[in-house]
Amino acid sequence: MSKQPHYMSIEVENISKTYGSQKALNDVSFKINKGEVVGFLGPNGAGKSTMMKILTTYIEATQGLAKVSHFDVKTDAINVQKRVGYLPEHNPLYLDMYVKEYLRFNASIYKVSKPRIEEVIELTGLSPEAHKKIGQLSKGYRQRVGLANAILHNPEVLILDEPTTGLDPNQLVDIRHLIKSLGKEKTVFLSTHIMQEVEVMCDRVIIINKGEIVADKKLQELRDENEQTVIVEFDYRVEDAFLLKLPHVKTVTNTYGFVYEITFSTVNDMRSYVFDFAHDNQLKILQLNQKNASLESLFRALTMEAN
Ligand code: ADP
Ligand code: MG
Repeated sequence: MSKQPHYMSIEVENISKTYGSQKALNDVSFKINKGEVVGFLGPNGAGKSTMMKILTTYIEATQGLAKVSHFDVKTDAINVQKRVGYLPEHNPLYLDMYVKEYLRFNASIYKVSKPRIEEVIELTGLSPEAHKKIGQLSKGYRQRVGLANAILHNPEVLILDEPTTGLDPNQLVDIRHLIKSLGKEKTVFLSTHIMQEVEVMCDRVIIINKGEIVADKKLQELRDENEQTVIVEFDYRVEDAFLLKLPHVKTVTNTYGFVYEITFSTVNDMRSYVFDFAHDNQLKILQLNQKNASLESLFRALTMEAN
């Protein structure tokens, strides 16, 4: 894949959206480079679908500027639509239509060639089910139909709104693989409320809460910045208050017996400090482990902070 530096697929500048008196998006800004796979993570009601509908020209923002492949969504909607493939949240499919019939129908709207229909069926793994009616398909295969439809016109940018919600574990793995492989050639902006999903599929995460961006980080950066947990077992009881005197300490939990989980807000390995603490207090250490707090807990912390 050729990646031109500074080529932006999505540019969002100070976008706000109000529904009546309800503020769904408040001064949202971010940029997505060509070729990136970015997860848009946030709890229900955070504003994810609203942002995606603005980017796909389905609704207009109340304020601000949004561009896809350098075309303004407000003034150049047609050019945006040509370059964007969209899988809406509640993918509206015609259950009585056959898979091929449905794709042909949409292809005619987009003026897409016949061989391309066969190509997207192949690409999305739909071949074994392509002769069936959409209503006969499992949820996983219906999502494939939605994805096939989204890539029919070979768009540069894919906007996928909760593409894995409602799938069973096997379907989930398949769809994630499919999205990952599509992401090799396209810019992908996908929403989810599941942190783990971002870990598996994305290069970067933008976290939104109550209409505001609360984090925008490369996955690697997030891992590095994460707080750490040290799990230590002493040979005797220790008052939490003593452990709370350790540098960078955030919380102390006596999980069972003489086992303590201590969280620190630093990337420095704190095990040596715990070791020195034990030595200074004539305690023996029976076990000592360090783990990075999961991205999940970071997500929770970020989305709770803004409450
Ligand atoms: P998400 O996709 O993150 O769950 P949405 O973008 O769907 O969030 O919704 C953001 C907020 O805007 C929510 O509080 C929701 O109730 C509200 N909202 C969404 N669509 C509408 C609408 N058409 N009319 C009024 N309020 C809406
Ligand atoms: Mg939504």
